[in-house]
Amino acid sequence: MNVAVIGVGHVGLVTAATMAKIGHNVIGFDIDESKIESLRTGVVPFHEPGLQELFVEGMEAGRIRVTTEAAEALGDVDVVFICVGTPRKEDGSPNLSYVQAAAAMVSTHATRPTVVVEKSTVPVQTGERIRQALTLQAQSRGEALAHDVVSNPEFLKEGTAVEDTLYPDRIVVGADSPAAHGVMRRLYEPQLANHDCPYVATDVKTAELIKHASNAFLATKISFINAVARICEATGADVQTVADAMGHDVRIGRHFLNAGLGYGGSCFPKDVEAFIHIAADIGYDFGMLRETERINREAKRWPIGQLRRLLWNIGDKTIAVLGVSFKPHTDDIRDAPALEVIDALVAEGSTVRVHDPVALPHVAERWGRSVVLCETAEDAVRGAHAVVTCTEWPEYGKISPAQLADWLEFPVVVDARKVWDVDELTAQGLNVASVGRQ
Ligand code: NAD
Repeated sequence: MNVAVIGVGHVGLVTAATMAKIGHNVIGFDIDESKIESLRTGVVPFHEPGLQELFVEGMEAGRIRVTTEAAEALGDVDVVFICVGTPRKEDGSPNLSYVQAAAAMVSTHATRPTVVVEKSTVPVQTGERIRQALTLQAQSRGEALAHDVVSNPEFLKEGTAVEDTLYPDRIVVGADSPAAHGVMRRLYEPQLANHDCPYVATDVKTAELIKHASNAFLATKISFINAVARICEATGADVQTVADAMGHDVRIGRHFLNAGLGYGGSCFPKDVEAFIHIAADIGYDFGMLRETERINREAKRWPIGQLRRLLWNIGDKTIAVLGVSFKPHTDDIRDAPALEVIDALVAEGSTVRVHDPVALPHVAERWGRSVVLCETAEDAVRGAHAVVTCTEWPEYGKISPAQLADWLEFPVVVDARKVWDVDELTAQGLNVASVGRQ
């Protein structure tokens, strides 16, 4: 099939590469010229394991190309994926202007009836808005609406996005006509032939809601275990063992029960906030999610409180921060919990030495000379008064507690991501604050 993808960012590019991989002809369109320029030369402009190879494979097979020309992208397509950003507005509600702009482009440039697929995360009832916008545009030309609107939410996780998209846990497709369902089923058929997963065919609104409900639930699971961590710290219980034992219960499961610095990234914070707004708009107060947010704010402030407890004044100290990306294996620092930690340290006047295996260019962009960029973890930690872990990159776990003790000026470790074993750290004479341990 001929597939167009509007917005080739983290979701759009993975969607495009995956669609090419399963045999479709794909064209990616973006208004960001530098992104398209980079892609034209075969270079994926962000860090996502396996994506570079998958994208180049699609290009070399002649099944994927990119453009900044909407007419070229949308002229002759069966399916158009809308993958543009849906950032939060000042009041926390989602900004859907990019989605509306994308729909308008389809209306202007599509030369035949097509299926318009919302892949961006959007509030329930956005499909109706898109349909309304498409109808108005068609009417203004004296035509009837020719396009179908479908919701096909994306569940990929940055860092494992390629794997998640090639081998998803489930595919959710919401459509309001059998014809649109038929097109989507044909689109995914080659993938389903190789990978057996639940294919949830539903109506548009239900599909839209599945995405926000899923992200809000996962964020709540994280906040739940972080609240338990606070109780463990105060009482001497061990959150890791609590989480492991809870996780053995199949009704609970171990995933997302990792106490730490809280959730971050470009999705969970904005999606939880959006869901609270969506509920409020229809007159339901989703207080539980406001509590999820409150606990998350508390989790992000935890390292600074621990540094003050262990060092007293921190403004005159040198602090090593290990990891900035919101999770390992990505260079994405959007809404990363580390931002709050580094901002607080910079505001205190601390000397902040930052290491991250891949995100340093974004750190340089955001803080300029306010922080010291370190090429290695050792450069950051050697001579610092304390080290704080903000991302659990596997390479940090390879630093032995003995090395840490040797490198640090003061023996202080604030392990917000449970990178090291507390007993091994204390055995080296280090003063330790570890999430969920007294
Ligand atoms: P992104 O910022 O990485 O990419 C969005 C792209 O859209 C950018 O390249 C931007 O230039 C482009 N764009 C904006 N307006 C455009 C227009 N009118 N025409 C063409 N291109 C346009 O964002 P993302 O992380 O890929 O997220 C996209 C959507 O997917 C969001 O709704 C997000 O919530 C959702 N989502 C993201 C993830 C994730 O892990 N990043 C996972 C699931 C769902």
